[in-house]
Parts: sequence; C-alpha cells; structure tokens
Amino acid sequence: MTNDIKIHIFHTGEVCVSPDLPFGGDNSNLLKASGLFTKKADRIWLPVSAYLIEHPKGLFLVDTGWSRDMSPEGVFDKKAQIKHLGSRILYEVNQGVVPVGQTVPEQLEELGYKPSDLDYVLMTHLDCDHASGLEAVKEAKHILVAQDELEFAHKNRFVRYQSKWWDNVDMTAFEWNATEGPFQKSYDLFNDGSIQLISIPGHADGLFAVKVTNDSGQFVFLASDAGYAEQLWKELILPGISSDKEKQMTSLKWVKEESEKANCIQVIANHDTAIKPHTITF
Ligand SMILES: [Zn+2]
Repeated sequence: MTNDIKIHIFHTGEVCVSPDLPFGGDNSNLLKASGLFTKKADRIWLPVSAYLIEHPKGLFLVDTGWSRDMSPEGVFDKKAQIKHLGSRILYEVNQGVVPVGQTVPEQLEELGYKPSDLDYVLMTHLDCDHASGLEAVKEAKHILVAQDELEFAHKNRFVRYQSKWWDNVDMTAFEWNATEGPFQKSYDLFNDGSIQLISIPGHADGLFAVKVTNDSGQFVFLASDAGYAEQLWKELILPGISSDKEKQMTSLKWVKEESEKANCIQVIANHDTAIKPHTITF
C-alpha cells in the first residue's frame, strides 16, 4: 500500500529531571519541579522523543530533540551542556545526554534521509529538549511554530528559553486557522484534516499536539508535553512545569477524551519511558 503513513519514534537521548517535573501533580511548585534542590539520586531519566512522519503529503519532523552540542563525544558532558543551553539554571533543570547515533540528523541518515529532505519541521513548543536540535535541521523546507509560543518564549527568554537555539533558523510563526481542540484553536496544515496541530496550552502557552489522520479516519495523536506519560491523562495528574495550571488540566482532559475515541490508534507522550523507539504504520 503506497498510501501508508509511517511514524518513526526516535529517542534523541535522555533528560534527567526532578520527579516533580513530570509527575508533580497539584502539590508541585516551580521550585520542586526545577530540581535545583533535588538530590542527584532522586532524579529520574526520561527519553527525549522526536518523530519522523513519512506521509503521502511529504516528510515531517515533529520536534528536534537534543543537539549534538549537548554531548559532543556522545557521553554526559556538563560543560558542553551549560554552554549549549546558555545558562547554569537550565542545565540544573534539564540535564541531558545524547549518545552517538541518536541525534535527529544521525537517525535521519540511518533511514536514508538528510535534513534538506524534510518538508516540514513542526515545533510543538520551544523548550530546550525540543528545540535544541533546530540548527541541525535548518535546511528543512518549512519550520513551523505557533505564534503564541514564539511570544511566550520571548517573554520568558533567558529563564526558560534561549533564542540562540533558533536565531539562525528560518522559522515561521503561524496563527491558528481552524477550531479543533479544547480551546477551539488549531492549525490544519493542508485544510483536509490529515495533519492537525492542535493548541493544548498549559505546559507552555503555544504548545500543540500533532494529530495525524489516515484516509479511513484512524489517527495517531502526538501529545508532546501535555502529560509526560500515559498515566498522566489516564489519572489526570498535572506535570510540575506549567504556564497555566487551569488550561493545562483542560488540555489534559481533552487528550484523555481523544485517547478514548474508537478510531484512536495511540496517544504518545514525548517523555514516556514506556514508549520505546519503534515505527507505527497505519
Ligand atoms: Zn519536553
């Protein structure tokens, strides 16, 4: 079947965080979630995912994972991380490592592609573990981010975001053009419902999920950081890092509803340790 859609789930290394960041729930606060006062032994390692979608309409990358600059030798490198992330605090919150072979360009090459083959790079939001690898795929034909997210990133620059991750990248900020989702804000990429970017704010103002629907109406839902693992929308537990807790819960409830639809093949969170790298064909 030539019309098959293939979604490759990449792990581009891992991120080491305070358990409060993904699983904090209502009792969490920014300080606990930041990990600044979390003992090293209490921290947990989570995968940092990116997705390559081979689709009849083109080749799509969702998020860019860690840059090689995080781990020049493929091993944990504190100095390199602080330099790449641009601040000591970001390093404390998001320590990471990307082993040799696991950056997006390396995994593209493994599948016979180069960054310039990408028709679209879809940035679910601009946190470092999603945007760190942007420079390495800047040859892609289109790089899209929500206007809401670019504004949010600008407001929170130097604290949560560093524009140097995308300063040299030709990135287009879009306004929502359709009304799917919990806030009736979405971006229908081809105006046919096949690839929808759906506003699910709360973790970040401009966060979107990517809903990929095939000709028979079955869909895979890439939930990004709405919840860090399936358990979060099943049990409606809020992650510890949020821009708006109320919106975050509304978004999470909506992810849960999507996951319960009969034609939903799978909902996938970006940092779920239960999701191993694999390929979904549908
Ligand atoms: Zn993330």
